[in-house]
Amino acid sequence: MSSSDNTPIPVPHFIRNIIEADLASGKHKSIVTRFPPEPNGYLHVGHAKSICLNFGLALDYQGRCNLRFDDTNPEKESEEYARSIQDDVRWLGFQWDGEVRWASDYFEALYDYAVELIRQGKAYVDDLSAEAMREYRGTLTAPGRNSPYRDRPAAENIDLFARMRAGEFPDGSKVLRAKIDMASPNINLRDPAIYRIRRAHHIRTGDQWCIYPMYDYTHCISDALENITHSLCTLEFEDHRPLYDWVLDQLPVPCHPQQIEFSRLELQYTLTSKRKLNQLVTENLVSGWDDPRMPTITGMRRRGYTPEGIREFARRIGISKSDNVVDMSVLEGCIREDMEVRVPRVMAVVKPLKVVITNFVEGETQSREAGFHPNHPEFGSRVVPFSKEIWIEADDFAETPPPGWQRLVPGGEVRLRYSYVIKCDEAIKDAVGNVVELRCSIDPDTLGKNPQGRKVKGVIHWLSVEHALAAEVRLYDRLFTVAEPDGDKARDFREFINPESLTVVQGWVEAAVRDAAPETRYQFERLGYFCADRRDHQPGGKLVFNRTVTLKDSWTKEQG
Ligand code: ATP
Ligand code: MG
Repeated sequence: MSSSDNTPIPVPHFIRNIIEADLASGKHKSIVTRFPPEPNGYLHVGHAKSICLNFGLALDYQGRCNLRFDDTNPEKESEEYARSIQDDVRWLGFQWDGEVRWASDYFEALYDYAVELIRQGKAYVDDLSAEAMREYRGTLTAPGRNSPYRDRPAAENIDLFARMRAGEFPDGSKVLRAKIDMASPNINLRDPAIYRIRRAHHIRTGDQWCIYPMYDYTHCISDALENITHSLCTLEFEDHRPLYDWVLDQLPVPCHPQQIEFSRLELQYTLTSKRKLNQLVTENLVSGWDDPRMPTITGMRRRGYTPEGIREFARRIGISKSDNVVDMSVLEGCIREDMEVRVPRVMAVVKPLKVVITNFVEGETQSREAGFHPNHPEFGSRVVPFSKEIWIEADDFAETPPPGWQRLVPGGEVRLRYSYVIKCDEAIKDAVGNVVELRCSIDPDTLGKNPQGRKVKGVIHWLSVEHALAAEVRLYDRLFTVAEPDGDKARDFREFINPESLTVVQGWVEAAVRDAAPETRYQFERLGYFCADRRDHQPGGKLVFNRTVTLKDSWTKEQG
């Protein structure tokens, strides 16, 4: 197993403590973890937390981590999802031990273990309807009642279970239940169903089975068969742990892994529920699972997030049992910090305003060399051409500036990045009074030096009109307008979709990015970090850049 980068120092947490104690005491010589997704959707940032935890621990303690698909719900699962999950794990920088594993690899073993439970009098076939079973189950405050079928003799149960498998009974007409305790205060122990009849085509086993094992029964046995040492899952499974342990205690499995729960990641201004993300996709509220606004791993990738940034995020948020509601700015901060040191910087203009340099010769070009990164000369340099007409950012000019403004104003001066100081002599307006062009003059004595006798503080980015390349620029913002879009049970999360989460503009970029491959990242100076779109950007052709993240966190300030 390998990580694509030097892993930063791990943050200690209670699961590490458990592992270190187990290694020190000799309980385990090495650790085996697993990441067990259901292939029923694309992975999201919450799964990234779990991936970084499971694969990260295996790396840190020289253990192993399996990728195991929990494929026990055939109707909801697909090959597409399974493929995307493998791509996402690899893209994050991790590699699972050996082949991909599937719970369905163990269907035969799971069946045999179920027969073993029946033989021991610890499982029975129940004919109660789903509704009756619910009623018999009791409530949080009232104990359940025994099903009238609970005391069927083992031989009869073995026969019925074999006939369930053989397809003699209709879907839903019978289930196999573990025989535990209908009066248990833990509802999960009130004779949970462990097999159901379901005629559904399975992505791996086709129509070989018409009975499928339930998750709780499957998961613990799969862990044991893979010699998992520490089975890490999210807190909602805490109440299932007694069942996990009960199943393994009854059966001659190779080992008994320890289930340990940690809190789920919840990220503000987005969702971490596959079901709801699926809804966004199927209702065309986003362009797909990889829409750059989606908190899916594939969406974050297309947006331009780096695997290193996401891994750093997982490290920073830590692992605990308390609520893990994290502000988006933490994730964005990690991405920004990572991009800051690793991507080249160029200029682009997203809201162009034309400037004519009145004292510059028509048709002449002056070029200056500029490095791609101030602290990384090894990133190289390119030539930045200057000519009579340039684009500047419309927002860098104001007729009546707010206090503290250091950019261009009528009669004022500003430095063009890597170039001259210019002075705005005239603003040309259209019929309704919008500024459509500026007439400026350069101070020819300011190339690489300060102007004589005055201070010019502002520096703005710009492009030569003649040399700039057109680009489609997609400016992304948060997908939701509120921190907890699914926080209010009475309101639908779709009400809170941010109508301004995507703005597409026609902008201009330096010719230096012409041949950038899809997924190439840049800082567009003063605008943010951008990434050539994975799907739509064509090197040397139609240029499409996604804004990954702005340079500064404007949200915290606005909210604050
Ligand atoms: P969802 O609730 O979004 O459907 P899930 O838990 O059903 O997610 P699985 O495919 O079963 O999705 O998850 C695989 C693993 O990822 C599990 O171990 C699960 O606990 C973990 N996981 C899922 N969501 C989160 C989250 N928000 N934070 C941390 N871990 C998560
Ligand atoms: Mg699940």
